[in-house]
Amino acid sequence: MTMGPSWRPGCRRHCRRWCHVALVGLLVAVAGACTHNPTGAASPSAPVPAAPTTAPPVSDPTPTPTPSASSTALGLAMQQDLRPQFQHGPKPAEYQKYIVLHDTEGGGTPASVVAWWANEGQLIAAHFVIGTDGTVLLVVPLDVIAHHAGFGDTGHDAAYGVPEDGRDDRRGTRPVGAWASDYGMNSYSVGIELIHKGQHAAYPQAQLDALDRVIAYIDAYYGFESTIIDHKAWRTGNSDTSRAFATYLAAYQDHRTHT
Ligand SMILES: [Zn+2]
Repeated sequence: MTMGPSWRPGCRRHCRRWCHVALVGLLVAVAGACTHNPTGAASPSAPVPAAPTTAPPVSDPTPTPTPSASSTALGLAMQQDLRPQFQHGPKPAEYQKYIVLHDTEGGGTPASVVAWWANEGQLIAAHFVIGTDGTVLLVVPLDVIAHHAGFGDTGHDAAYGVPEDGRDDRRGTRPVGAWASDYGMNSYSVGIELIHKGQHAAYPQAQLDALDRVIAYIDAYYGFESTIIDHKAWRTGNSDTSRAFATYLAAYQDHRTHT
């Protein structure tokens, strides 16, 4: 995801550019991190790199978190595919403020989305990916920074109360322009990626039910309710979440379930 002069705000354009970059085989660097998968599933012929066996590349390794809530107790059948390449620094509970909702703008399954991220050499990922069938995959531990929100509008660090304090290693990050120079959100949030494509396509009931449970799990994990936003709130011009999600977002922000 290199940001040349033709790049303009908006995840759709952004992701198409990523796709192009991927196709020509260039190294894709994390910039205005958006975790969309424009191609849907990973190429079935592409090798999936094995998860590194070395310790996560964080400068100040976070102790293994002790969840205050059991996913099983909350009816959350959560799978894990924790990949150190997606971990960018410590995010202990005192820094948790937001839940940022995303759409992949592509198809596939949670496993194929994660494989696509990894295959592309990107360092971006959301903490959770939720499939259309309600499958939930945890990709980054909650107490670790993930590059999912990327750059936001200039002034949003202050507006959202997310000052940059150096915890985010910003590996692979590139500026996207003076209009979006703030990068604090990753350090204060959990990102959730919904597998979904299009501005008007419906969100399956199973997926929304799973999102309800994931949000309840995050709330219980930290012991407080994080503010729920979507990606385009952080960066003006993003297309995610879709227009079809607007009523659900309002419901989540009001009472934390989609109904
Ligand atoms: Zn996004």
